[in-house]
Amino acid sequence: MMYRYLLLPILLISCSGLERSERDKLRERNAVGEYVRRESSDVYFTLEEPELRRRSAYPWEQRMVGNHSRITKEHFRCKGSMSHQMILVNDESFSDCGGLEKHSLPLRGKWEFVYPIQVDLLNYIQEKTESAVIITCGHRCPTHNTYADSSYFNAGSKHMIGAEVDFYVKGYEENPEAIISLLIEYYNDDTPEYRNFQRYQGRTNVATNPWMNKEVLIKLYQKNEGRDFDNRHPHPYLCLQVRYDRENQQKILFDERHAQSCFRRY
Ligand SMILES: [Zn+2]
Repeated sequence: MMYRYLLLPILLISCSGLERSERDKLRERNAVGEYVRRESSDVYFTLEEPELRRRSAYPWEQRMVGNHSRITKEHFRCKGSMSHQMILVNDESFSDCGGLEKHSLPLRGKWEFVYPIQVDLLNYIQEKTESAVIITCGHRCPTHNTYADSSYFNAGSKHMIGAEVDFYVKGYEENPEAIISLLIEYYNDDTPEYRNFQRYQGRTNVATNPWMNKEVLIKLYQKNEGRDFDNRHPHPYLCLQVRYDRENQQKILFDERHAQSCFRRY
């Protein structure tokens, strides 16, 4: 009984083996070889033109614009220091703040914040000029603001709320007008209220009327103007003030209470 069950698969296997070898023989006998001939000009399908794709930058590369460090809000930290000597303000001794070791940048919610258009514009300048932007003054806490310049005109400085930055560009020290043109050019493709710059006609502390659109005001300090503790260099320099918060769609106005409380003291 058991043999019958074993015999059946053996017979099946041997039959299929015979069949296969017969088939192979038949194929060999009937096979005819033929060359496939193609001309070099034959086109059977077209390939799409290859497109060069640039890989995205690695995080360490994003820190550079050309050969220069990318401007970030870190460049805006208050330049006050306890090592600065005491000065007289209204006939009283006055010390500088402790700088970045003693307080933060202005805060928005939980995060340190300066108005990002300043960062964008300064990086744009670095990109276009391939030269380094030197920030001489970004955020100033109220103490350092008084220390740097205790004049009445400076009392409402937007440096205290992260909406103002002083700078010059290496290699363009004597040609700040070229930098102003670039700042204006940045808005070329924008809507008219941003694209069209006007000259500010109000009261100011510089001889050259500032340029302004809805978002920013650009002030040019000549060699003999605007010399304060943060701007002791001999060059003309530019001051960029942010007038309008595009994200929240509101005017940016200086507010003493906000200036005093908008950052964290350590
Ligand atoms: Zn400070």
